[in-house]
Amino acid sequence: MTENTLVYPPRVTAFTRTFWDGLRDGTFLTTRCQDCGHMTFPPKPVCPECWKSNVEWVELSGRGVLVSYTEVSAAPQMFEHEAPYTLCIVDLDESVRCVSRVLAAWDDLAPDARVRLKIRDSVPTPLFEFVLDTDDELEV
Ligand SMILES: [Zn+2]
Repeated sequence: MTENTLVYPPRVTAFTRTFWDGLRDGTFLTTRCQDCGHMTFPPKPVCPECWKSNVEWVELSGRGVLVSYTEVSAAPQMFEHEAPYTLCIVDLDESVRCVSRVLAAWDDLAPDARVRLKIRDSVPTPLFEFVLDTDDELEV
């Protein structure tokens, strides 16, 4: 156990392994239906629009806007040591929605704020969370 070891790691399946391996390599992946073009997040082996399983892996930008957010003070037992933390809903620029944590001071958050993905180095899988996407935080 290291300080990066997750107490409640995501469940990795034969299908989702591609997503988690991608995250480890610094890419944020999801699936797009090759029949109707619908993109989903999280990745799904079957298209929820047309119910076909002809999906392909595509890379997301990891950038989007904050739709909503809330601070969690009374956390589930496995996350109590991390509370308080802030959960958010983000609409990515590719028009898919995801739920995650956002790492920012509460007073700096606002609806429609630009956010970008940040990959957290953890074991056994990396995690993704969001940070505010301001010019001075751009990584070179
Ligand atoms: Zn489809």
